[in-house]
Amino acid sequence: MSTKWVYAFSEGDGKNKKLLGGKGANLCEMTQIGLNVPPGFVITTEACLAYLDTPERRLPDGVMEQVREHLAALEKATGKSFGGRASPLLVSVRSGSAMSMPGMMDTILNLGLNANTLHGLIEQTGNPRFGFDAYRRFIQLFGKVALGVPDAEFDVEFEAVKAKAGVKQDIGLSAEHLEDIAARFLKVVERVTGRPFPADPFEQLEIAIKAVFNSWMGKRAVDYRREFRITSEMANGTAVNVVTMVFGNMGNDCATGVGFTRDPGTGENVMFGEYLVNAQGEDVVAGIRTPKPVAEMEREMPDLYRQLIELRNRLEAHYKEVQDYEYTIERGVLYCLQTRNGKMNATALVRTSVEMVNEGLIDKRQALLRIQPEMLEQLLFPRLDPRTKAKPVARGLPASPGAASGIAVFDADRAEQLGRTGLKVILVREETKPEDIHGFFASQGILTSRGGKTSHAAVVARGMGKPCVAGAEGIHVDVQTRQAVVGDQVFGEGAVITIDGTSGDVYIGEVAMIEAEFSGELATLLSWADEVARLKVMANADTPDDAARALKFGAMGIGLARTERMFNAVERLPIVVEMIIAETAADRQAALDKLLPIQREDFKGIFKVMAPRPVTIRLLDPPIHEFLPSENQLVEELDRLRHLRDTVRGMQVLHDTVDFMYRVREVHPQVALPADPALVDEAIQKKEIMLKKVRALFEVNPMLGHRGVRLGLTYPEIYSMQIRAILEAAAECRKEGLEVHAEIMVPQVCTAQELKRVKEWVEAIRAEVEAAHGITLSLKFGSMLEVVRACMRAENLAEEAEFFSFGTNDLTQATFSFSREDAENKFLPMYNQNHILHDNPFEVLDVKGVGKLMKLAVDWGRATRPEMKIGICGEHGGHPKSIAFCHQIGLSYVSCSGPRVPIARLAAAHAALTEGAVAGTQAL
Ligand code: PEP
Ligand code: MG
Repeated sequence: MSTKWVYAFSEGDGKNKKLLGGKGANLCEMTQIGLNVPPGFVITTEACLAYLDTPERRLPDGVMEQVREHLAALEKATGKSFGGRASPLLVSVRSGSAMSMPGMMDTILNLGLNANTLHGLIEQTGNPRFGFDAYRRFIQLFGKVALGVPDAEFDVEFEAVKAKAGVKQDIGLSAEHLEDIAARFLKVVERVTGRPFPADPFEQLEIAIKAVFNSWMGKRAVDYRREFRITSEMANGTAVNVVTMVFGNMGNDCATGVGFTRDPGTGENVMFGEYLVNAQGEDVVAGIRTPKPVAEMEREMPDLYRQLIELRNRLEAHYKEVQDYEYTIERGVLYCLQTRNGKMNATALVRTSVEMVNEGLIDKRQALLRIQPEMLEQLLFPRLDPRTKAKPVARGLPASPGAASGIAVFDADRAEQLGRTGLKVILVREETKPEDIHGFFASQGILTSRGGKTSHAAVVARGMGKPCVAGAEGIHVDVQTRQAVVGDQVFGEGAVITIDGTSGDVYIGEVAMIEAEFSGELATLLSWADEVARLKVMANADTPDDAARALKFGAMGIGLARTERMFNAVERLPIVVEMIIAETAADRQAALDKLLPIQREDFKGIFKVMAPRPVTIRLLDPPIHEFLPSENQLVEELDRLRHLRDTVRGMQVLHDTVDFMYRVREVHPQVALPADPALVDEAIQKKEIMLKKVRALFEVNPMLGHRGVRLGLTYPEIYSMQIRAILEAAAECRKEGLEVHAEIMVPQVCTAQELKRVKEWVEAIRAEVEAAHGITLSLKFGSMLEVVRACMRAENLAEEAEFFSFGTNDLTQATFSFSREDAENKFLPMYNQNHILHDNPFEVLDVKGVGKLMKLAVDWGRATRPEMKIGICGEHGGHPKSIAFCHQIGLSYVSCSGPRVPIARLAAAHAALTEGAVAGTQAL
């Protein structure tokens, strides 16, 4: 039997995209589910490949015979004749491969027109303008697409006729003008190709089919496949779709329209779309006439409106997804030309998911899987109005999502001062330090010119749910003069700026925003996510406020409370500084005694918000010099104070002299002293001690230096104070009747010995607190895994630790030896662009390297402690691809900043529902 090259829409397998191409398969499916699709047929991708295989580019035997047979069937179905004058059958010819490749080849419309059929069309419609317009369009498209005549050749003629007619718009051209244009176009084709324009419709069709096949190997298509890595397994060859033309522009009983089965902006279950009476699809797209909302059709064409509702219901019942469809009404008959899954914003996706489940159209699994977790970001943060025309002046890293406008302020104190007055401020810094925290609280958003996505500014802003653009290196921030220079523009303190932490864009001036909304439907959808997810989703939160917000987003506990954040409040920092610069253990203890009740209150606040959920508190991690000013700042301040001391002394001399000179006179001038010299001396002394300490604490590489548990072991009294504060807080909450599950976590651990020592303190203090309160506490002791050696020794660490939490920010830094502060705005973009690394490993977990370490550590840890609770609290814990990996290696939970919790909950559900697919950073 000879090969079957051609399939009618009524017989092709709607699932076989490989053979029929996406468009062809879709047209077959639509036809077979009973939609009124204009009749047509598909010439297979196999025919394309066979054709391209012949050196002389000859269509395989049987193709044109089969095409003729199918055309005969089309003639029968439509009552029209191909090449006939009385009722000419015209067709469109379209390409379509298994993968959509936009723009691979233009569609040829109105094929079958020639001088003879044209007159038939005109007679049939009684509309010469319509006929000539169709004809000139066909000659141009066919000339360009199938015969390779450049557009410019046609444009010259077109413009000449317009000029002669004295009209500017195409719409002003009469039938005669269009007839003239068609005649000129025929001449253009003959001149350029050296042959008359083919008049025989079958010849036209054969040329068009070959042109479509040839386009598969055309530069545009080859480049596209290379760029998007479309392999021959994914799509091989293109099919050709030959479809009966239907016209929406034959009169007032004709129309053309586009629609969504539900409102793609809100998700509401209503008819949505627009249409134009007596028009072609092109007119809608070109915006020549303003289409009417579909609701008007109910009045204007009630019968067709009913048909349209039926079409919409059928589409949803079959595709079980919101559809974006196109239709044409020709002489009162509704044809569906195309349908595809509708693209919607997050609001609409969430609403339609919930409603379609309630309507019984889809199940919960489908409802969850049709929304990409990242899309929820749109609902959780304010964002810039997409219609904005504002142009960004700089771009940094999108470090914490959301958008904010406010006046630029260049230091944290000023931000606090102005913020208190109710002004909206954006804190602009070169980089931020822990002591800027009060400025964060007072600001709408944070902009830095240095630092990456795990820089201090980024992590803190994310925790607070505030927008942050980090590492905008194009902006030169000058804190001294309180201004920033970007290109040839300057903005100073008080200038309004807008930052978009979702894109990294920075604007001068205010840009319109859209507010976030956490709807009841989103809550419902996420409750379904929690039902299927295996991973629990915790939040990284450092204050009771952060914890309360995280709870609203559905956090199931706190996976990381960074205690150092609590040290930074304005009224606490001086005590922390006292503690650091203390010369004796007794002095240090005095400072710690002041901190203890403060920390205890912090922990109580968090426990109260989260009870009965678990709360993991990490002991102090950063190097302590971070709480002191920088050496440069201290040197400069000392310099000023010493000048002031001279001035104060000079003023004292002046004061005494005047006093002496005027002692015996009646009028006695007053000389005011600028400051108490003793106070100045005291300030100098304090700063000198701080400077000495800063110099003593100086480290070339502090991130790998005296921090975390190393610091804790050097100053046991600091960790002891924190442990006591946690346990006393837990005990007091218990006594108030709350169920508290406290977890103490040790950072930067590399050996079990470190854990052992800290654990001894924990047990001793626990025994004391339990005895004092007469209760038993629920407490777990655990370790961060953020040092490579800790992963390698997980088996031993698990003997001491009851839980692990991967600190993948540090673990990524350590595994790659890339600085988490600098890599992202130095060489990482270049690495990504050149495909040395696919992703930013500080954002997307590097599954092959860091992930491998994690997997080993999980297996080894659970070899010692089989049911061990293991989680992740690095920034990756909120990234869907990384969450999928965490699910796969059997983690118990992920922990991420509060506002990312909903994204993580949905991602955890996706991971459970699509078990097996791994994604992540790939080193090439
Ligand atoms: C980490 O390293 O991943 C982590 C959570 O700790 P930090 O970011 O505070 O160093
Ligand atoms: Mg860390």
